[in-house]
Amino acid sequence: MSVRRRPRRVAMLSVHTSPLHQPGTGDAGGMNVYVVELARRLAAAGVEVEIFTRATSAALPPVVDLAPGVLVRHVEAGPYNGSAKEDLPAYLCAFTHGLTRTWTDRHPGYYDLLHSHYWLSGQVGRTAAERWGVPLVHTMHTMAKVKNASLAMGDRPEPAARVTGETQIVAAADRLIANTGTEAAELVRHYDADAERVTVVHPGVNLDCFRPDDAGVEAGRAAARVRLGLPADALIPLFAGRIQPLKAPDVLLLAVARLLQERPRLRERLVVPVVGGPSGSGLTEPEGLQKLAARLGISDVVLFHPPVGQSRLADWYRAASVLVMPSYSESFGLVALEAQACGTPVIAADAGGLPVAVRNEVSGLLVPGHDPADYARALGSFADDPALSTRMGEAAARHARSFGWDTAAAATVDVYAAAIRTHEHEGCGSR
Ligand code: UDP
Repeated sequence: MSVRRRPRRVAMLSVHTSPLHQPGTGDAGGMNVYVVELARRLAAAGVEVEIFTRATSAALPPVVDLAPGVLVRHVEAGPYNGSAKEDLPAYLCAFTHGLTRTWTDRHPGYYDLLHSHYWLSGQVGRTAAERWGVPLVHTMHTMAKVKNASLAMGDRPEPAARVTGETQIVAAADRLIANTGTEAAELVRHYDADAERVTVVHPGVNLDCFRPDDAGVEAGRAAARVRLGLPADALIPLFAGRIQPLKAPDVLLLAVARLLQERPRLRERLVVPVVGGPSGSGLTEPEGLQKLAARLGISDVVLFHPPVGQSRLADWYRAASVLVMPSYSESFGLVALEAQACGTPVIAADAGGLPVAVRNEVSGLLVPGHDPADYARALGSFADDPALSTRMGEAAARHARSFGWDTAAAATVDVYAAAIRTHEHEGCGSR
């Protein structure tokens, strides 16, 4: 690879959610963490990153230094507060205009390429990339057709306009980055992507933040429980992340209710923390999960906690006996990887990217489908064998260590270089 083809500066687009927002509620989740971590590692590897995101308040400065070599630029597009993600397509032209204003202030070639995240950014990206004659790299994070194929009961399907938008982006992008081989195959099958332009780059995990306690997994669990005020000997299945039907926290509660029916004495030593806030279609009934817990008669064991920062979250992972992620669809599932990196095994749905994140029977248990009885059985294994958390947790920490962000960033730089080569070869605007 020639030095010239390596990008020096990338314009990254994260239109609908800011890398400065707290993940775990609303529109902020794994993608925010992904963008921040990737940008930091790219910058450390010598590729400067400017992240363009929509301004959601008049008080925001136009530019924020996120990390050495990483800037966040706030773009005025649409009303500040109160715009749901569903309303944002109406403001994409305004966003593209704002991006163009920054771009025209720079000398030609200032940005070597555009990397857009999620379909709303991809829509801006494809227009801007054509206008400026730079390559477009796109990461979907989630796809409408994939989500719609495995919706939770009663959940709202993604609109047809999103499917059209995603199809246009796939046709326009010089390169697509998929989180897993499954996602790459979905891009080809559902969106007719050219397989040669799709590269699998597994996301990483911040191994400095998410790691077992220096004292080891078991002693670390005890210490984290003291810090969080949790009982030392409890079975603690943890849910962490955005509360919405897609993530199926209700399946965990139904499984817990079933487990308690079968083993009433477990109630004395069971705590089920739910760390996160309502999001997506979960916002239509923000108290829905609390009401479900009450209906099931398990409010006394479920502990709802608002989203926390990453280092505090690491303590919740360390304290848990097992993390439970029964999602209907998940392009990767960073939470599963983070918990494992902290030495905590995972019970996950055998769906989307989760079979890559979790090694079945080694670092956790994969459960086919969403029958609460199956999740209750998996939880029962941890109740029956208290040493299982430590045994699988140690294997989980080893498994997670292979998913560093430095590796992900290096692979992403290779994708950028390939996109630049393709673009130069084909001539700008030829796709
Ligand atoms: N998260 C957080 N605080 C919380 C709960 C979650 O910072 O209280 C972060 C978590 O560290 C993870 C992200 O939110 O990186 C969720 O990512 P995941 O891929 O699991 O789900 P997504 O939100 O992308 O659907």
